[in-house]
Amino acid sequence: MSDRIEVDRLPWRRGAWRPSVGELAGWLTCGLQETKLLYAEADALRLREVGDEVHLRGLIEFSNFCVRRCDYCGIRAPNRAAERYRMSPTEIVTCALRAKEAGCGTVVLQSGEDPWWTTERLCALVRDIKKRADLAVTLSVGERPARDYQRFREAGCDRYLLRFETSDEALYARLHPDGTLVERLKCLEAIRAAGLQVGSGFMIGLPFSGVEHIARDILFATELHLDMIGCGPYIAHPGTPLAGAALIEDREVYFRVISLLRLLNPRAHIPAATAFDALAPSGRDFLLQRGANVFMPNMTPAVYRRHYMLYPGKPCVDEDAAACAACVRARIARLNRRVGAGPGHSLMSSRADAHGRAS
Ligand code: SF4
Repeated sequence: MSDRIEVDRLPWRRGAWRPSVGELAGWLTCGLQETKLLYAEADALRLREVGDEVHLRGLIEFSNFCVRRCDYCGIRAPNRAAERYRMSPTEIVTCALRAKEAGCGTVVLQSGEDPWWTTERLCALVRDIKKRADLAVTLSVGERPARDYQRFREAGCDRYLLRFETSDEALYARLHPDGTLVERLKCLEAIRAAGLQVGSGFMIGLPFSGVEHIARDILFATELHLDMIGCGPYIAHPGTPLAGAALIEDREVYFRVISLLRLLNPRAHIPAATAFDALAPSGRDFLLQRGANVFMPNMTPAVYRRHYMLYPGKPCVDEDAAACAACVRARIARLNRRVGAGPGHSLMSSRADAHGRAS
């Protein structure tokens, strides 16, 4: 791709952009001038479409028990070196109230696939948080039967986060001994059918994949018309079968993915995923200037946080929730952005009315 570009001829400026895999692969590997332009265009579109607010979603990693064996994950069931913990409902509600005090409009309740957390227990937890704190609730607890998603919605849950991880069926099967891409996509359909706002996304730079896989994942995420698109770099964990897998040499590829997602999904919420801070100092700050509009301060108590180790080098493992929230607010202020008010619900037109727009 040439380093000299006429801005008016940029493809996304000429109407709805429907790039081919090859065209996207070109942008993923483009030169310095084009990269700068890509970031600037994504940032300008973010400002126009979703504004200057950065929505805070307080992340509570409430259990690292998991029955699954995803090959890339540090808390997969066979990893005996992982020290397991499970927070009590009371602890979780206390964390949610702290998240509210810290300015979060949403709590994201995330865990491995932990059978102790039955549908009844999860619904009771959601109801308790909704009753005691005026917060939006996102659940991220893995694959469940379709009926469970309806019950979560009836209990007051607003959103559900389930990444598809890769759109390549063979690669998915290779990395997930316990599931198939087809099953995962059925879950995403059921989540939407239940009336929950849908968050999904993929891991950037998985082993056995190349730039064309990433391009296909970007297109696939776009076709799903997601309310939230969450993507993070794949960072190999030493306690997994994929230990030692290398990062993509050109680190800008990871950031270009987020900018391209913004250009293709103007109204989606796009978080600056925590793993970007493990990739580069201030990685999440860069993302907020390259298309992202959501930040997820970690509200998990420090005593547990170090054990929710999906990948090595996780940032801020020793900070308590208050310090984490204060740091996040300072980072947003330094970027001349402001913390979003209210729950920061979906801005996608078909879903916004059902949940009320972000204020
Ligand atoms: S990625 Fe999720 S489902 Fe897979 S092993 Fe890790 S926590 Fe469990």
